[in-house]
Amino acid sequence: MLTLTFLGVGSAFAKRNLNSNALIEGWAKGPAEQGSPDDSVLIDFGTTGPKALHQIKDQVGFQYLDHNGLINYLAIRRVLITHLHADHIGGLEELALMTRFGLAEASSQEERRLELVGTAEVLSSLWEHSLKGGLGASEGRPAKLKDYFTVRTVHERGKGTPDRIRIMERYEISLFRTHHIQMTGQFDWPSYGLLIADRETGETVVFSGDTQFDPQGLGNMLAHAGMIFHDVQLEDSKSPVHAPMSALRTLPEEIRRKMILYHFADEWDGAQYDSVAKEFAGFAEPMRRYVLFGGG
Ligand SMILES: [Zn+2]
Repeated sequence: MLTLTFLGVGSAFAKRNLNSNALIEGWAKGPAEQGSPDDSVLIDFGTTGPKALHQIKDQVGFQYLDHNGLINYLAIRRVLITHLHADHIGGLEELALMTRFGLAEASSQEERRLELVGTAEVLSSLWEHSLKGGLGASEGRPAKLKDYFTVRTVHERGKGTPDRIRIMERYEISLFRTHHIQMTGQFDWPSYGLLIADRETGETVVFSGDTQFDPQGLGNMLAHAGMIFHDVQLEDSKSPVHAPMSALRTLPEEIRRKMILYHFADEWDGAQYDSVAKEFAGFAEPMRRYVLFGGG
């Protein structure tokens, strides 16, 4: 079984919901029969990520994430980064410091390092332009990214090998480029969404990542997916960097009804959005385990 739990479902500036980060867990049997998953990957870890994990570790079914009241970061195997906005990477400094220095029971440095997964473009920028400021110094010597993480570079889907990661052999995640922010040319600021697949059945799930409305680029994947988690911007704006609700409403009904919306602003429960549950598969719920594959 493969499950996905949103640690938060909010936009970058939301205050009523936490950042739209997600925990994907792989299970031989399932959460009802196991205390902890067999494999896991955190999809992004933004500024509110530590707060979210601190909350969820007390929730039934997620207590494997507790270590004497602290977040048991070492119970998570990997963290995959889609792009470099702070609501997607702002929690990484804490995660890195806690895994390297904070959780004393792990015996070796090897055991202390989570895998950090992303494209070379994202991971090199992540260190040089974001994390190095806080993590580049350690007592006695400078530090590097590999002091904190086992770095696993993947290519964009279909653009070289490896271009995917496996979860328990049966499932895999690959990355596709998204139109999130364009500076001067197409795809000139790296940002990715996820295609999640069950290799046994051929079923897929799309997790859009941060993206503008892009029916040409994503249409085929959206048509074939059994389930879609899609970024949404509630209000229209002059230069949207997310997918406006008004644009998503133009998609065919067969796509909309399998589309769960996330990354939304604080107004989501206003009366003007009452129809979202009918037009789409609804707004994503935080801290709920969605079964992606193998539910029975
Ligand atoms: Zn973003």
